Amino acid sequence: MPLSSHRGLAVSPGIVIGRVLLLEDDIHRITKRQVSTAAVPAEIVRFERAVKDSTTELQAVFESARKEMGEEAAKIFLVHIAMMSDRRTFTAPVKSMIESEEVTAEYAVSQVLGQLAEKFRHSRESAFTTKVNDIDDLANRLLGHLSGRKESRLAKADKDTIVVASDLTPSLTAGLDRKKILGFATDLGGRTSHTAIVARALNIPAVVGCQDLVRAATEGATAILDGDHGMVIVNPDAATLTQYKARIEQRRLFQLSLSDLSNLPSKTADGTEIELVGNIEFPEQAAEVLSMGGTGVGLYRTEYLYLMNQAEPTERDHFQAYKKAVEALKGRPLTIRTVDLGADKMTQSRQDTPERNPFLGNRSIRYCLRNLPMFRLQLRALLRASALGPIKVMFPLVTSLSELRRARHLLNDVMEDLAEDSIPFDEKIQVGMMVEVPSAALMADAFAREVDFFSIGTNDLVQYTLAVDRTNERIADLYTPMHPAVLRLIRDVTRMARRRKIPVSCCGESAADLEFALLLLGLGLRTLSVSSSAIPSLKRLVRSVKVEQCERIARQAMAFDSEQAIAGYLRDQARKIIPEAFDGRTA
Ligand code: PEP
Ligand code: MG
Repeated sequence: MPLSSHRGLAVSPGIVIGRVLLLEDDIHRITKRQVSTAAVPAEIVRFERAVKDSTTELQAVFESARKEMGEEAAKIFLVHIAMMSDRRTFTAPVKSMIESEEVTAEYAVSQVLGQLAEKFRHSRESAFTTKVNDIDDLANRLLGHLSGRKESRLAKADKDTIVVASDLTPSLTAGLDRKKILGFATDLGGRTSHTAIVARALNIPAVVGCQDLVRAATEGATAILDGDHGMVIVNPDAATLTQYKARIEQRRLFQLSLSDLSNLPSKTADGTEIELVGNIEFPEQAAEVLSMGGTGVGLYRTEYLYLMNQAEPTERDHFQAYKKAVEALKGRPLTIRTVDLGADKMTQSRQDTPERNPFLGNRSIRYCLRNLPMFRLQLRALLRASALGPIKVMFPLVTSLSELRRARHLLNDVMEDLAEDSIPFDEKIQVGMMVEVPSAALMADAFAREVDFFSIGTNDLVQYTLAVDRTNERIADLYTPMHPAVLRLIRDVTRMARRRKIPVSCCGESAADLEFALLLLGLGLRTLSVSSSAIPSLKRLVRSVKVEQCERIARQAMAFDSEQAIAGYLRDQARKIIPEAFDGRTA
């Protein structure tokens, strides 16, 4: 097999060499795979078994649906069974395609159902066009039986596996077994998609947005995944393997040199203290933040309590998670961000009616303010936990003052309830907000009078300022925090916060980029919140620069009018300061 290399987005650092496990079960992306003539009968048997298993499953679904929704509504599952056993339109064409073209059952199923869906889609009868969804449903069920569900295939992975998929959900990513899975690469996704964030949280090297990797990779092939540079090489030759093994060693030595830094203070060369804190998704990560040299948690993404479980977390689940994190931090601050569900962070079970524009839809604080019992429950648990150690509360995606006031009002209400029941909590709990939409950034002055702190979320601020979906690999080249418009917003928010004497931090992923961090320091930020793995190299940067030098660099960067010029200039400056962090880096 020839070597093929694929460029994607470097979203979680690390270089690994392993064998490909291909997870492709999306009807629209099944690639054509030949089987040998001798393997054709086995392929047909596999197809027949999948039809039989899907039918049994659908009969059970029909029975339970009949009990819950009544005969009429449940009939749809009988329709699915009938479609699947229709010889003329389905089973015969699939078998004949496997035989004549010598292809996998998955491919034949996807083709035959795909053609059927096309016919329905172009029909003038609306009753037919709605059938397209039924076909997709059916296809997913059959493909699940043919290839195995993603979860169970992952659970059965061998050692030294590199997962290749069109996409992975954040919860699937969080469940990856680190003892066996070395890294993963996907065709979809952007740098700040939550799958990427989870990969960083779990220290799994990852490349996303490769676009054509699933098509090119074969199950079991050797692959190199370079999460530092955003590159995946399938079937590498001997020379490439030797070159990457040397890089892995070079990397190991650099990481080793950083480990000495964890107990040293995070101070610039001219003595200004820079607070380096961690972003976490799970309470277990709090201890890791400290061990990497962080001094607290600047962002705890609590929506993962929802994303990791089918059932909604109870007040006790929330409380236990916060207790675990606050105790692990041993007196260091824990900033709990209230639930930020919606957009790309939705569980299947909560995805009732898909929205046309989910990133502009019912997400985050909006979602919470429309689901008050759920929001109250979280605030209650969070306040109870505030009796155990220093906790701050932070509201996400605030776009207007009225929204902030409603959230604060609810918090006060919950405080009164607790006080009435004599349940202890921190009455002076600090209340902050994320600045992650232009409306909040432009109104920073007004907001600063009503909160105790700001945290700038560049992941969203970039997407909303530049109108670039943060998860869309097709326009990933347009997604950059270096855009002058984004920088001006950050500069102004920081100025307003200083003027009103409230602390301001940056907790977007770009705070971990050395060149961007250099600029943030120059713009006046003194707290950076990043994945714990990024803390050591940031500390190295902090200890190598003077504030005045950063300010000069920021002034110069702000004088450029294009993101390319700014990015190039900052890269040159950062490279001069810590050349070893940029060794071999091309992008
Ligand atoms: C952000 O938007 O920058 C942020 C930190 O929040 P999240 O990535 O969870 O949306
Ligand atoms: Mg955000």
